[in-house]
Amino acid sequence: MKKIVIILMGMLALVACQSKKVKEPGYIVQVSLGSWHTPDYTAEQIIGRLDTVSRLIPVKKVIIGWSLDKEIYRQVGEYLHGKDIKMLLWLPVFAETEEMCENSPAVDLWGNIPANYDLAAGEGFRFNCPSDPQNAANVVAIYDNHFSDCGFDGVFLDRIRTQSFVSGVGGVLNCGCPLCAQKFLAEGFDLNYMKIGWEMLGDEFLSVTGYTPAQGFTFVDDGVNTYFKVKGHIVSSAVASIADSFHSRGLEVGMDLYAPFMAPFVGQDYEILARHADFIKPMLYRQTFAPAGMGFEYDLLRKAVISHGFDGAVLSWNIMEAPNAHIDCLR
Ligand SMILES: [Zn+2]
Repeated sequence: MKKIVIILMGMLALVACQSKKVKEPGYIVQVSLGSWHTPDYTAEQIIGRLDTVSRLIPVKKVIIGWSLDKEIYRQVGEYLHGKDIKMLLWLPVFAETEEMCENSPAVDLWGNIPANYDLAAGEGFRFNCPSDPQNAANVVAIYDNHFSDCGFDGVFLDRIRTQSFVSGVGGVLNCGCPLCAQKFLAEGFDLNYMKIGWEMLGDEFLSVTGYTPAQGFTFVDDGVNTYFKVKGHIVSSAVASIADSFHSRGLEVGMDLYAPFMAPFVGQDYEILARHADFIKPMLYRQTFAPAGMGFEYDLLRKAVISHGFDGAVLSWNIMEAPNAHIDCLR
């Protein structure tokens, strides 16, 4: 997979694209319509904005979602397809879907729904169990029932992970439901090991001894190394299966991922996911109040991206509000 990347409006996001799908450097932009309800913008506003942006930079794809207003996608899609630009549905997978369907929630090792951190109305970030096949089926059904006749060329999968550190170090110790515990056991790991270790040591149980880009973090306790490895298999295999379902519908699949060194904590195994994605967008925000912020790494990242042969960039995440000066400088 050839890497890529992106920049942004006050934030820096990174992206990777499979070179076979990208013929020339170009940009992917995102339009945030808000949640499932009334979209924040009209089709006319969106088309007008995209028209302006595409005159400044070569736009190849537009990620838009996830209001249920079909007409807006039909109108925007007609405009985009007339310009040979693809339209992808921005679709949340393991969170934000509780308004749409009944899901089994992710729980911690003690069976409790983890505390959370509400960023904004409509973004509850309450995560669902990645192992429950009904949860996966629900996500695909949302597309089939509400978006399949809107002219989308693909889907951009968001929230494909477990909860992060927003509620503390222990926030990453999920999902621990019986179904997930069974999957851990199938790979030879007993979740009781994590329960006991955490109860004895707390945050210290997840202490690390080192980090290399190739190997990631090494934890003091070898059982913790195994835990995160297996967690990556479980969560990412579930995502892969959902991605395959969309591919079988003739849709392109993009994925929103944590930065490589953060990804293992939330169950994102790049090796598994990259095999099932047409492009990935590692989240490396220059400034944010959430864990994805990489303030200290930003300058090194900015210097390093030049030599990595990226195919393009995803401008994240709301092109409707991005200052033209930020876009213009990308030329
Ligand atoms: Zn579970």
